[in-house]
Amino acid sequence: MAGPDSRRRARKRRHSARPKDAMMYELDNPQDARRYSETAMQLIESYDIHATPDYFRLLYDYASERDPVVAKKLRDVSDETPEVFRRAAEDLVTSHYGVDRSVRLVTETGDAMQDQIREVVRQVNDAGDDVHDFGDALDGLADNLGNLDGGGTMKTLVSQMIMVTRRMRAKSDQLEQDLKQSANEIRNLQDRLEESRREALTDLLTGITNRAGFDRALRRQTEWATEEGSHLSLVMCDIDHFKNFNDTYGHQLGDQVLKLVGGVLHGSLKGRDVPCRYGGEEFALILPETPVDGAQKVADNIRNTIAAKRIVRKSTGETISRVTMSFGVAEYRLGEAPAALVGRADAALYRAKSEGRNRVCREETPAAVIAAE
Ligand code: GH3
Ligand code: MG
Ligand code: MG
Repeated sequence: MAGPDSRRRARKRRHSARPKDAMMYELDNPQDARRYSETAMQLIESYDIHATPDYFRLLYDYASERDPVVAKKLRDVSDETPEVFRRAAEDLVTSHYGVDRSVRLVTETGDAMQDQIREVVRQVNDAGDDVHDFGDALDGLADNLGNLDGGGTMKTLVSQMIMVTRRMRAKSDQLEQDLKQSANEIRNLQDRLEESRREALTDLLTGITNRAGFDRALRRQTEWATEEGSHLSLVMCDIDHFKNFNDTYGHQLGDQVLKLVGGVLHGSLKGRDVPCRYGGEEFALILPETPVDGAQKVADNIRNTIAAKRIVRKSTGETISRVTMSFGVAEYRLGEAPAALVGRADAALYRAKSEGRNRVCREETPAAVIAAE
């Protein structure tokens, strides 16, 4: 019969045999996997690419066509010079696998936390078994109490009772300690998870929400607006002639401008508003509980603030340039897909560009008019 000890061992075996993360690369059959790896190594050789795991993975994905975006981008530059190919590979590693790293971090921390929680469940179950054993032992002793035949047996019984009770006491002290330690580890993992999550959703340069965070926030806010029947607006904005700026003053100063814009967006918004770096020199503002008129005012204030800034050379205090931005504003139509809202705000931004830049345009047919029709 399976006693508590064997039950315990079986439980331990089940937990320690937790399957490793299901690696999607295991789906490639061994011959194909070897072929893709060899191609990846040949590419590393012939284009003189840094042989780190990120680049290997990128080139493996290219060789296996696992990721169509990667495959297309690299195919497009495969006939160019090694320099051009290397640069494209560099961009892809940053844009594709950079986010992936944070996601991996979150996943790993989540897994470690799950292991800890399983361990607590195991400890508590084991404690249940121990209590059960203790009960059995006491029952046995109680049965013997009924058949007492003298002082000697009584003494033996009492000392056995003291022994099993002490053993139980030691086990519960140990359990208390183990549980305290597990609780501490879970708290640490929770902090790490929160930190990794923040990192995965934050743009490193400007410190505001990144594209992954934007997608997530917009999905949540559109769901919320639909549930509550409330207004929600989106502003898409883009720095004007930024390529010229970079060409004239260099990328480093360009990066400083991006930081400045991130800072202005962050500083101008309130409450649950979410400022985001949508990508490159494009930004977005998600404005919950804001009708399109209000969003237009917010955008115009930001436009004014940025246009009034001067880019100053720190060493001399001399003004070297200024930048302007164009804005497109749209209001969410309850129940529509988030992408439709982005599309309308983007179309309005495009109009602001073609009408001369440094201006705010709103979608052609605002939600209010649609609703009144
Ligand atoms: P438009 O007014 O039509 O928006 O013109 P533009 O030059 O701003 O637009 P275009 O799309 O032609 O160029 C965008 C430029 O933004 C190209 C690139 O040099 C710059 N850029 C994108 N991301 C970054 C970045 O992270 N740092 C820096 N310094 N520049 C960037
Ligand atoms: Mg631009
Ligand atoms: Mg742009």
